[in-house]
Amino acid sequence: MLAWFTSAARTRPPASGDRVHAATVLPAEQPGRVELENELDRSSVPTTPPPPVDIEELFPELRDYATTATRLHPRRGNPGTQDSSIGGPLRWPADEPWPFCVDREHYVNHLSTPATVRRQRRIYAAAKARAAATGQPYELTEAERAELPASDHSEPEALADGPIALVPVAQLYRRDVPDFAGPADCDLLQVLWCPLDHPETGYNPRVEVRWRRVAEITGQVAEVPEPAVVYDDYLPTACVVHPEPVREHQYGGLLPEDLDRRLSDWEEESDVNYQVDLSLAPGWKVGGFANWSLTDWHPVDCTVCGTAMTLLLTADSSEYGGSDVWRAVGEPAGAPVNPVGVTIGRGYSLYIFVCPTSFDHPPATAMQ
Ligand SMILES: [Zn+2]
Ligand SMILES: [Zn+2]
Repeated sequence: MLAWFTSAARTRPPASGDRVHAATVLPAEQPGRVELENELDRSSVPTTPPPPVDIEELFPELRDYATTATRLHPRRGNPGTQDSSIGGPLRWPADEPWPFCVDREHYVNHLSTPATVRRQRRIYAAAKARAAATGQPYELTEAERAELPASDHSEPEALADGPIALVPVAQLYRRDVPDFAGPADCDLLQVLWCPLDHPETGYNPRVEVRWRRVAEITGQVAEVPEPAVVYDDYLPTACVVHPEPVREHQYGGLLPEDLDRRLSDWEEESDVNYQVDLSLAPGWKVGGFANWSLTDWHPVDCTVCGTAMTLLLTADSSEYGGSDVWRAVGEPAGAPVNPVGVTIGRGYSLYIFVCPTSFDHPPATAMQ
């Protein structure tokens, strides 16, 4: 039974992983640790502002096309294995082999090592922070420029032919996101992906999902292998999360035609846009609805049993989409829109679906 179709928005205290550190110099190339580009005040927990209009008051029938999504509000930080995170370290049993992508075709365009991607991000973040602090234009120093690889540099393509270690994408404890879809007796969801393009999944990363019972995890894996190469847009920067349930309304193209048309008529008289401002929360989220604006809706059915699949997690290229309506309260207009550093296609989202019949069936993805 899927529990995430709850309707009332709730407020929750911040996740236990909400440690926001002052910017510090961290050991170079240490996985999962980055200088903070834009530190948050310790007391600030990102939350979504109230919607600009109560659309259900104006269109009561929308209540039949509403659900709860949990915005994760990832922000750069240093989560541990006991914390919910995006791109952070996973609680992983000592005796369980780390997953690799083996014998799969990778579409290769531009390859980087994870260390290079982290170094680039650290340099750009430092330059950005310096510009913000001094009011001077954004500019790299000579030393920084010398540390960056040439723009056309790519690691040897042969490296993508070997086994590629999957990278942590999301780790969510049920205590932080109580309504994630998954086996009722599991209290930990982990999502990993192979950080290269896969022709068989629409030129996207190939996703794997793990459901766990924390009490049964023995030990902690001592060493996590890193992929030899990645596509830089698919390497998440470690972020703490601030889960917040929000109310979503179905993608306009999936509403009854008459309701969709009346919403369009109303938009013409209003300065609010249903699809952008009121329908789907942008950014990384659990549950909720998918956007279908790239290809129009198509069925996402389980390849094993044919059941219509359930949206589990959305990986997004931007936390605020095209609308300031969703920018977290208290965050300045210049706050990073993509703290995770993952970009899907040309700034789209990757929707990750799971089979509600059996959580052992493989996940599916759609880029929109
Ligand atoms: Zn792969
Ligand atoms: Zn299935």
